[in-house]
Amino acid sequence: MAGALPQRLAGIAGEIVAPLVWLVFPDECRICGEPLGKATRIPVCGSCLRPPEPLSADYFCACCRTPFLNRAPLDEQGRCRLCRLGLRAFDAAYSWGAYEGRLRELIHLFKYGGVRPLGKVLGEWMALAMPRELSFDRIVPTPLHWRRRLRRGFNQAELLARQVARRFGKKPEGLLRRVRATAVQAGLSHSARRANVAGAFRTRKGISLEGQRVLLVDDVMTTGATATACARALKQAGARYVAVLTLARADRRPLLPATAGKEAA
Ligand SMILES: [Zn+2]
Ligand SMILES: [Zn+2]
Repeated sequence: MAGALPQRLAGIAGEIVAPLVWLVFPDECRICGEPLGKATRIPVCGSCLRPPEPLSADYFCACCRTPFLNRAPLDEQGRCRLCRLGLRAFDAAYSWGAYEGRLRELIHLFKYGGVRPLGKVLGEWMALAMPRELSFDRIVPTPLHWRRRLRRGFNQAELLARQVARRFGKKPEGLLRRVRATAVQAGLSHSARRANVAGAFRTRKGISLEGQRVLLVDDVMTTGATATACARALKQAGARYVAVLTLARADRRPLLPATAGKEAA
């Protein structure tokens, strides 16, 4: 159980530090630089706070919703290579928008700029990306390693999950923990990312999810390696169905030549 106490302390530190951050009233929008004209807890102008366009593509994997440039990487059931090979442990994935432009800047402001109240706005948007008819037994945020949480003061996935859970009349539950720190995923290839996070997550002791439907919440999905590692842990604890909901997902289509589709999962 090493890590439980530091984890709790990290949470407490976050609660104490955050209100001090909110007392800073900048006079210009932190996205576009326009003067704000009023004190606000979210230093972003009204036009930058409009919901961005949802992610659109002509071709999506039917299971993980990865966008593709053409139909080539998808099989008859519409699944991409990773889903076909069973390399994804989750059953479905939903996302509000593409991780670029204004949405990316808003996420950075929220995550690294310490603008916690943005979590409410962003969480409400992402809840809209879920089909209405879905239901879940548990809503689970992707955990941060306690050291990273201490540095940031909060876990962004947890704040987003609060808004999402509200839509289902539930509370988010921190059922997962990170059992080891992992290298930052940015810059790693897909298989290196998978190796980096494999086995990094466990459910908390004594948790049984036997036969349950679980919604895993995170801010950004890049290759889905973290989501897969979390989903695997949830399924080991008995979960029957795991869906992943992220605010944004990296759209890697522009990086891929159209003919490389088959490797482009
Ligand atoms: Zn603005
Ligand atoms: Zn897929």
